[in-house]
Amino acid sequence: MTGNESAGAGAIDVVTTIAEVRRITDGHRAAGRSVGFVPTMGYLHDGHGSLMRAAAADNDIVVASIFVNPLQFAPDEDLDSYPRDLDRDRSVAATNGVDLLFAPTTAEMYPHGAVLTTVSVDKLSQRWDGESRPTHFAGVATVVSKLFNIVGACRAYFGEKDFQQLAIIRRMAADLSMPVEVVGCPIVREPDGLAMSSRNVYLSPEDRCAAVVLRRALDAGEQAIRDGETDPETVTRALRSIVDGEPRARLDYAAVVDPVTLETPPVIESETRLLIAAYLGDTRLIDNCSVRTGQDRS
Ligand code: AMP
Repeated sequence: MTGNESAGAGAIDVVTTIAEVRRITDGHRAAGRSVGFVPTMGYLHDGHGSLMRAAAADNDIVVASIFVNPLQFAPDEDLDSYPRDLDRDRSVAATNGVDLLFAPTTAEMYPHGAVLTTVSVDKLSQRWDGESRPTHFAGVATVVSKLFNIVGACRAYFGEKDFQQLAIIRRMAADLSMPVEVVGCPIVREPDGLAMSSRNVYLSPEDRCAAVVLRRALDAGEQAIRDGETDPETVTRALRSIVDGEPRARLDYAAVVDPVTLETPPVIESETRLLIAAYLGDTRLIDNCSVRTGQDRS
């Protein structure tokens, strides 16, 4: 598909070129309409849907992008097998209030092949997920910068599901004075507590059942803090021991972090984020939750 594909009545427009998106969003802004933006890699689920609905509530026009960004995948990762279904995505986006879907090809986004200019957010990108995926966040920050420059949105919506990514994008936008408000949205979960993710389709039925261990571990850490535990190491051990009790799961990391710096505080004394990453089979899943000391469970 090239250029602007106009869909049938009630369906959503899919645009594949940078020039066309710019033409459309420039027009909206010139007419005084606010533009909200939801960047995704597609294979949409209700986690994406919640971002789209938030964008539709706050803005006159909502643009969502679908782009499986090669720059954020390491050579041994799942770029080629990442699930894709543009037709389905188109109807999910339309149902959730998106006005325009931007689905560029890799050649449209990276016409010169390799990029010589990248955006990297120091420190925040190196720890946690960055230890397992050292090039990942520079790939994310670079493509999000490009998408911000292309769409020219007033507000951009990101899920707390990828909490480290959200912290990095917030910092990038602040450091580079990007004219966009970065809005974080709560994690949407399956009924059993597993955070929705496009990658959940990789899980075998047995691993899918076992995957709920991430949420159970976070609950245990949260409970320990509510019970008065202030030592991050003790809380981390509580998370670790829950995951160790599930034979199908292998912990990558569990951490207690400050939500802005992503550093582990010496003592837990205010709002804290618990982060966890674990493998179920070959699939690496991440999850997190916020804990405020002295706060009731929500
Ligand atoms: P992805 O398509 O995985 O790159 O995700 C696109 C956006 O959707 C990111 O901002 C994610 O954090 C967000 N997202 C993914 N899963 C969820 C979820 N379960 N709840 C809320 N937001 C999500």
